[in-house]
Amino acid sequence: MKVLVPIKRVVDANVKIRVKADKTGVELANVKMAMNPFDEIAVEEAIRLFEAKVVTEIVAVSMGGQACQETIRTALAMGADRGIHVKTDAELQPLAVAKLLKAIVAKENPALVIMGKQAIDDDCNQTGQMLAGLLGWPQGTFASKLALADGKITVTREIDGGLETVLLKLPAIVTTDLRLNQPRYASLPNIMKAKKKPIAETTPAELGVDPAPRLTTLKVEEPVKRKGGVKVKTVQELVDKLHNEAKVF
Ligand code: AMP
Repeated sequence: MKVLVPIKRVVDANVKIRVKADKTGVELANVKMAMNPFDEIAVEEAIRLFEAKVVTEIVAVSMGGQACQETIRTALAMGADRGIHVKTDAELQPLAVAKLLKAIVAKENPALVIMGKQAIDDDCNQTGQMLAGLLGWPQGTFASKLALADGKITVTREIDGGLETVLLKLPAIVTTDLRLNQPRYASLPNIMKAKKKPIAETTPAELGVDPAPRLTTLKVEEPVKRKGGVKVKTVQELVDKLHNEAKVF
C-alpha cells in the first residue's frame, strides 16, 4: 500500500516572525526554514505504518521553489522512500496545492494521503479538506490516532472537548494533529542514505494545473502589543480602574 505525504517548507517554528515594513507579508530573507511541524508528524506516522508492514511505499511531495528539495531530503532521511518536487516560484494557495495533489494522486494511485492539518505559515487548515472534496474521498481530519485494517482506516479525531472516532473506506485523506506521535530525528546514516533516494521533478504546467492565486492578501500586521499590567492596592482601586479605565461596566 502506497502513502503520499505532502510536506510544506515553512519558516522554522522557533523563529520570531517579523512582518515586512510594507505589510505585504512576513520577512523570509535569511530566515531559517524547516518542514511544517504537522507534516513531520505525517511523515512519522507513514513510517510507523511502514514499520508495522501495513504500508509498502512512502512518497513525500513538496511544492514550491528549489529549496523544497532540502525539505524532501529531510523526509527521505526520516524514512520516506522517494520524493516528488513540484517546482514553482508562484505563490501557492490551498486550492492550487489541492489541485496539484489531485493530479499527483491520479498518477501515483496512493491508498492514503497523510498530511498536516495546517501549515504554520498561512494557518489555512484547508488543503486536506479541499483535496478530499476534489477527489471525492473520505477525510479524517485532526487525527490523534490511526488504525488500518481490511481496507478501512479508523481515525480518532481531536474535537472541542473530546474525541470523535470515524471509520473511513480507503482511499482516504488523513490530516494530523499534534498528539498523533512524536516525530523522530533523522540519524546520520539515514541522512547519508537519503542523498541517494530519488526526487522526481515536475511543474504545475506538466500536471495541467493553473496555480494562479484566487485570493489577494490586503495586508499583514503584527498583533497589537499588550500593555504591561499594574498592581492595585485595594479592591476599591480595582473596581475604579475596571469602571473608569477599562470601562467594563
Ligand atoms: P494549509 O491548508 O495551507 O494549512 O496546509 C495544510 C497541509 O497541506 C500542510 O500541512 C501540508 O501537508 C499541505 N501543503 C500545503 N502547502 C503545501 C506545499 N506547498 N507543498 C506540499 N504540501 C503542502
